[in-house]
Formats: sequence, C-alpha cells, structure tokens
Amino acid sequence: MTFITSVNWIRTAATLLVLALLGACSSDEADTADGASVQSGGTSGITAFVGARIIPGDGSPAIEAGTFVVENGLITAAGVANEVQIPDGANRVNLAGATVMPMMSDTHTHLNTEREALANDLRSRAGMGINAAMSLGMDGSDPVFEVQKDAIPGAARYFTAGRGITRPEPGRTDVPHWVNTPDEAREAVREEAARGVDIIKIWVDDRNGQYEKMTPELYGAVIDEAHQLGLRTTAHLYNLSDAKGLMEAGIDAFAHGIRDRDVDDEFIALVQARPEVVLVPNMPYRGVPTDYSWLAGVVSAEQMAELQGQEENEQAAESWAIQARNLYRLNRSGMKIAMGTDGNTFYAPHLEIEDMVIAGMTPMQAIVAATSTSADFLGINAGSIAVGKSADFMVLDANPLDDITNTRRIRDVYLRGLRVDR
Ligand SMILES: [Zn+2]
Repeated sequence: MTFITSVNWIRTAATLLVLALLGACSSDEADTADGASVQSGGTSGITAFVGARIIPGDGSPAIEAGTFVVENGLITAAGVANEVQIPDGANRVNLAGATVMPMMSDTHTHLNTEREALANDLRSRAGMGINAAMSLGMDGSDPVFEVQKDAIPGAARYFTAGRGITRPEPGRTDVPHWVNTPDEAREAVREEAARGVDIIKIWVDDRNGQYEKMTPELYGAVIDEAHQLGLRTTAHLYNLSDAKGLMEAGIDAFAHGIRDRDVDDEFIALVQARPEVVLVPNMPYRGVPTDYSWLAGVVSAEQMAELQGQEENEQAAESWAIQARNLYRLNRSGMKIAMGTDGNTFYAPHLEIEDMVIAGMTPMQAIVAATSTSADFLGINAGSIAVGKSADFMVLDANPLDDITNTRRIRDVYLRGLRVDR
C-alpha cells in the first residue's frame, strides 16, 4: 500500500471553530476522556505521534522516523515524518526511539460467558496490545451477544461463534450442538445465525478414536447452510485427510494447523486453488521450557511459578515440529496466515508470534499475520497504521523486527485513539 499524506482542513477548521465557540480547553478534556492522556499543548483534539519507527502491519516496509496523525479515533495521515503535515493546534507525542506497530487480533479464543468476567477478559487483552478476540464455539449464554454489539471502552472488541457444531461427544462439554444428520446440521447453523454469530465453528476430530467425527456429508451441510446465510465457517481439525475434505467442501478457515502428518503436494494444490482460505496455526506448547519472566507484574506469583516450572516434553516437541513444518511450508506456498491462541490467555498472542517465527516465518510475516490479516479476517477496520484505520496501536521500547519477543516491551497501548489504562 502507499501512504497518503492527507489532512482534512475543513474538518480541522470546523473542530477549531466549535472548540472556540464552546470556550473549551481541549487539552484538559483530552486528558480525562476514557483514560486517555496525551502530551498536550494542542487545542484541536487531533494528536500527532512523531518520530517513531512505524511497522505498518500490512507488509510494507518499516518507516524509520515516521509520523502519524490521529483524529476521532482514526488515523488521518501516516508516513515519513517530514512528509506528513501536522495540523495546526495538534497535540504532539514525541516517540523518537520507539517502535509503533498495530495492535494484534486474536482470532481463536474461548472467553468467559458471564458479562463482567467477559468484560475483564477483553480489558486485560487491550492492556497487552490485543484489540479484538473471537471466541470459537463455547458461548451458550446470551449476555455475550450484548458485549458483541457494544464495544466496551478500553477493552478489546468481541466476536463470537456462539455454539459450535460437532458430533455427540458425551463426557465433553455439551455447549456445542451435537448433530447426526445433515438436517440437524443445517438447523444448528440456522439457530446460531439467528443469534447473530460472527462465524460458524465446527469440530472435525474423533478425539483419538473416542467419538464419531463429522463426515463430509455433515460438514458439507454446515458449510453450505452457513454460506446461504452469509456466514463464514471455521474448523477445528487434526488430520490432513480432513483438511482436504474441508477444502473441497468450501471451508473458509482452519482454526488449527494440520497435526497428524506433513502436508503433501495435493494439499498445497488445494490451498493454491483457494487463496482466500485462512489458516490460524494455533501452535501448541513447544515442549521446551521457555522464560516467562517478562510476565512479572502481569500474572500472579503463583501463575509465574507454574509457568516457569514447565518441563521438557519430547512428545509435545514432536507434535510441535509437525505443525511447525506445515506452517513453514503453507506460509511459503502463499496460504493466508492469521493468528489465534485458543483458550483464555490474554497475553498468549506474544507467545504465538514467537512460535510462528521459530517455525520459520519472518518477524514481519508474523506481525502481518497477527495484525492486518487477523483484523481483516474479523472484518474490523484496524490492523495497520494507515489512513482511515482505527488508531489501535502499541508503542514498543524495542524493535520486534530485530527480535519478535520485543512485542512484549510495551510502553503504551492506544485503542481507538485513546491511551489504554494498563
Ligand atoms: Zn479452540
């Protein structure tokens, strides 16, 4: 993409006029709105963030010493500092030496379903630079749909698949629809569509031979019904053979990587025939203990002790390696990669993108996956530092293109243009 230096002078003038008529001093107001606080000095309600290295998030190269302008929660200009015109009266935030990247979006989570707990899940994510989370298939309660409709100030946006669809799995959760016939499968889709879900989730997994799994006839019915209702579909899966069947049936996304074996040329051909399909690799525990000390002050001492006590696990490492090789090959084949973490761990995206890089994606590719590709998958107007996008960004003390774990060195987070109270 290209950076457009655009300043809406008419709007700026109108804003100044209104402020003058009201006699309002907006530098005070800016400090109190929704936890926002910008270095003031301006009077316009417009803020220019000056001098940072900008990682746009859409795959275009980083801009050393860039500037971008935010007005009403949207980015109105972005580019090389000396080419961006800063409106008169704008507040200025000096970010020299810092790196700015878009907030990340987590496209595979399972959040709380009670309203206040869900709101807390979403607030804690905003503090870690996550602007949205999609909950995939365990949301039986109605309050989640209230949260879905009204973005909570200072909290990540929420998306939900409602109740997902699977075969009967006695002994596991009974929140999902259990279906045995194509008619039941279609009825389940209609029920979730009526609830207002953002996507339809299916599970195609026999759980190690314990259950019947969704047949092509069943998931074909789900996908067809969903598409007729204008909804996309995402699949939990395990096996390459199911991945092929799902591709042929028109699935829109994979909520996990392929876990039983290495992908083959036949699958690569299916991927290349349907470049719009999204892969969310959702990497599991690598099997190798890693240092979690960066979470000091973010998680409790008890949780920290548990994390730091993780042990080496050869079986996990082997399973991880299959998925890593598949991610590497699918990424190189041009498959669209988004980011998702599963479960309810608010800081997990920072671990996930490290895994993606260890698997062979470049830091830039992992950032694009987690930011613009994931935001596009969710359909939100965010995920890049570009004109017209929601001003959802992180200010980092170090460059994640040098070391992907630098996404953890968060100085500030701005969500919809407002500084998040972390
Ligand atoms: Zn899941």
